[in-house]
Amino acid sequence: MNRKHNFGAGPGILPESALQKAAADILNFNNSGMGVLEISHRSKDFEAVLQKAKSLVKELLKVPDTHEVLFVQGGASTQFAMVPMNLLKKKAAYIDEGAWSNKAIKEAKLFGEVSVLASSKDKNYSYMPKGYTIPTDCDYFHITSNETIHGTQVKEFPASPIPVVCDMSSDIFSRPVDVSKFDLIYAGAQKNMGPSGVTMVIIKKDIVGTHGKTLPTMLDYKTHLENDSLYNTPPVFGILVIMYTLEWLKSIGGVEGMQKINQQKFDLFYGEVDSNPMFVGTAAKEDRSPMNACFLLNDSSLDEEFLAMTKAAGIIGIKGHRSVGGFRASMYNALPLDSVKALVQVMKEFANVKA
Ligand SMILES: *Cc1c(COP(=O)(O)O)cnc(C)c1O
Repeated sequence: MNRKHNFGAGPGILPESALQKAAADILNFNNSGMGVLEISHRSKDFEAVLQKAKSLVKELLKVPDTHEVLFVQGGASTQFAMVPMNLLKKKAAYIDEGAWSNKAIKEAKLFGEVSVLASSKDKNYSYMPKGYTIPTDCDYFHITSNETIHGTQVKEFPASPIPVVCDMSSDIFSRPVDVSKFDLIYAGAQKNMGPSGVTMVIIKKDIVGTHGKTLPTMLDYKTHLENDSLYNTPPVFGILVIMYTLEWLKSIGGVEGMQKINQQKFDLFYGEVDSNPMFVGTAAKEDRSPMNACFLLNDSSLDEEFLAMTKAAGIIGIKGHRSVGGFRASMYNALPLDSVKALVQVMKEFANVKA
């Protein structure tokens, strides 16, 4: 099979080896004569998958013993509500960095007061707000590490006097992070980990169950912590693919090795954007994300022609989000460097044809 150069923003490209193993397991898991989707989630075979996936997360991100890894459902969007439901007593502090943080803010307001410390809305979220002060009178501080739609990334997390909650949906496992600095990290799987339908939460155990409220059972982190993500039927297939994706990640040098490869892809791509007179990047240089690169043709009347040329080269998924326009090249972990080379080649050719 000829795999495409898949620059899609999400669900995104996954490692081929992980897909192959998962595909085989759907038909016959551990030579049991049954597929992985047909066995009990409480069976020994699946229990081993869950524990392996969890231990790989802990190993790769060096998760300290104070924290636990949970697999839940409902996407990162459910976390937008679950976080304030569990942690917001009176007031929470948020940064308004783009479309996703906006949605998180909207949900938090359903459960209490929200103080928006800084916003980059004035420039269509093309940069990351910086230099704000995190107040001590809030229950937690929420930040989005990578704004998928606008192509910006937090390079340095601010020191915080209060618990920190981070949406890492679109750059989890792309670089090392100091998990001990976060009380809660959440990420929908479908950008860098696995299929949609499973959401990973890394939570500091001592903040679980401190809300003093009666919450719906499934929306209380306590339920998932106490039952080791097996209160109800977990997203079995998603957890399986996460396990294989993380095995692949480990084999290429973990998050440290991955960061180096992501940096190569970033340098190659932005090197072209910055030197090719036809194109311009939309994100502020210092905040550019290695995961999602947003760029425009200086002459947008050529957009369709450029898209057609990329398509002919086997490149898909680069049409920009409607709120930014132009193009977005998502370069998630599993996207090979060769795919970025292919895109850069087309950009060069396009400039030659039009010059
Ligand atoms: C994709 C994305 C989401 C939404 O994830 P769902 O799993 O679809 O709810 C939230 N935050 C960020 C940063 C994202 O990239």
